[in-house]
Amino acid sequence: MRDRFDAVVVGAGVIGLTTALRLQQAGSRVAVVTAEPPGETTSSVAAAVWYPTRTRFEPRVLEWATRTHDEFTRQAADGVPGVVMRPTRMLLRGPNHDIPWWASALPDLRVLRGDEVRAPFSGGWAFTVPTVEMSHYLPWIQHTFSMAGGTLIHRRIDALEQAGVWAPVVVNASGLATRTLCGDTEVRPARGQLVLVANPGLRTSVRDEDNADGTTYIHPRSTDVVLGGTFEIDEWDITPSPATAAAILRRCTDLLPELAGAPVLGHQVGLRPFRDSGVRLEADPRPPGRIRRLVHNYGHGGAGVTLAWGCADAVTTLVHQPR
Ligand SMILES: Cc1cc2nc3c(=O)[nH]c(=O)nc-3n(C[C@H](O)[C@H](O)[C@H](O)COP(=O)(O)OP(=O)(O)OC[C@H]3O[C@@H](n4cnc5c(N)ncnc54)[C@H](O)[C@@H]3O)c2cc1C
Repeated sequence: MRDRFDAVVVGAGVIGLTTALRLQQAGSRVAVVTAEPPGETTSSVAAAVWYPTRTRFEPRVLEWATRTHDEFTRQAADGVPGVVMRPTRMLLRGPNHDIPWWASALPDLRVLRGDEVRAPFSGGWAFTVPTVEMSHYLPWIQHTFSMAGGTLIHRRIDALEQAGVWAPVVVNASGLATRTLCGDTEVRPARGQLVLVANPGLRTSVRDEDNADGTTYIHPRSTDVVLGGTFEIDEWDITPSPATAAAILRRCTDLLPELAGAPVLGHQVGLRPFRDSGVRLEADPRPPGRIRRLVHNYGHGGAGVTLAWGCADAVTTLVHQPR
């Protein structure tokens, strides 16, 4: 069994699948081991808009975000299922309208003119970013991986070292489960709740993250609109809260009155793999058991989609680096 694969990726969310595809494209025979099918992961719940939510500046994070932006932009131009470029307005309430640290990743970010902003907002930015519909995109990555000879193994492991039975190289892309799989208790849930409504004809994403009543965003997709949201650290409950849903609907309708009366299509909750010190992407100096090289790629919090392809490239480089 071990000789059949060069590398095994633990996790079939957006981080695991993009990493598996990149390793495969670099010439490795790759398997993905996952407890849940891709369509039942946290990644499948993501609003999946390119935006480095609650992510601190670090040069390598900007590099990952830029590479991911560029890859999605290429994929949108190629017609990859679920990937579109979406005009966006970020509305600001405070006095500081300085362009954000990640602006250099985008070709068109600009500060809004005074005549484009109304009270209670004091300014904002306009930009275009990739938006990904995960119900189309995750199956596309999985299909692309499988058609090129990749193997998906449905198995829940109890410890990372168990992955060493499949391949000498292991990539840990298990998200929040890394808490138990390798004891990193710095990874914590950041609960996110969303409301999905029918799209009354919206085309532009709008964000109001300074809202004192709660972060607020409106992301149109092909047939629905994603309304958010929450970012509740250390909250594990994945049952949608009716009170939270009502508050999200109220904030979003205040922001865009066109949403009033839009039929509610569903409610979603996901637990983001949040880590105070940011993403862990590195080779483990002491791989357990039979593993020869272990590379970690987890802790992407609210920005897993935004960083996925850049991180996949970085992992691929680490896997192939001579020791
Ligand atoms: C409401 C919400 C909105 C979001 N919106 C955005 C957004 O707009 N933009 C953005 O960039 N990000 C967004 N995110 C964040 C994004 O969803 C996450 O950062 C991303 O999904 C993390 O991906 P992952 O692959 O690391 O984890 P996951 O998707 O959780 O995948 C983990 C994988 O590990 C596997 N696994 C776990 N335990 C085991 C085990 N014991 N054995 C085998 N396999 C195991 C799981 O089965 C799964 O396949 C949002 C998240 C939420 C909840």
